[in-house]
Order: sequence, then C-alpha cells, then structure tokens
Amino acid sequence: MNPEARKKALRLLFEPLVTELGYKFTPNAEDADFLLEQEVMLEEKYGMPYCPCQARSKVRAENMEIVCPCIPFHREHYDAMRRCWCGLFVHKDVTDPDGLRQIPPSKFAKK
Ligand code: SF4
Repeated sequence: MNPEARKKALRLLFEPLVTELGYKFTPNAEDADFLLEQEVMLEEKYGMPYCPCQARSKVRAENMEIVCPCIPFHREHYDAMRRCWCGLFVHKDVTDPDGLRQIPPSKFAKK
C-alpha cells in the first residue's frame, strides 16, 4: 500500500477508537500528517504503527503499550496533559493544541 493510502487508512482506523476515549485528531493538520507519516514508516519497518515519539525497548509487552493509539495504557497521564505524548490526539474540546504542554512521565504523579 502506498504511504498516502496507508495514512488515510490509519486515520479511519484510529478515529472511532480515540473518539470512544474522548479524544480527536489534533486540529494542527500539519502535525497530524507528519506524525501519521512517521507511523506508516515504522509500520513498514517493524510491522506495527509504533509511536513516533517514544522509544521501543527489547521487551515486546512494553512495546505493545506504545502501538498507536496508546491512550488506554497511559490514560491518566494523557488526560492530565489533555493530549497524547506526541500530540497526535487531543481532548475533544481542545481548539488550541499549541497551548498544551507535555508533562514528563517522571513528573506525572498518578492519583
Ligand atoms: S503518544 Fe499519541 S501518537 Fe504516540 S502512539 Fe500514543 S497515541 Fe499514538
């Protein structure tokens, strides 16, 4: 499948999943397109659309937690930021994603 077609397919696949979780694609179309492109490249290379912003390890179980969309595995953290780590997805009510900041995992205290 060509990369553009795969990006479109991933969009269609991810949309209902993240909607269920209260998220949507970032309104920043350029960022969304870039991140999806990176995922298509990772999928081609490793067989899964891994997160373009989180490092893979040698532990399969850990890597499965960063297959996009990884929101269910990091829900509290991402809800606190109102975005996922990469910013591909933001809370449904977010209109200005540039105003959202990442909170490093080390600084995020689970409740
Ligand atoms: S941080 Fe965002 S883009 Fe990266 S895998 Fe998770 S949901 Fe996908």
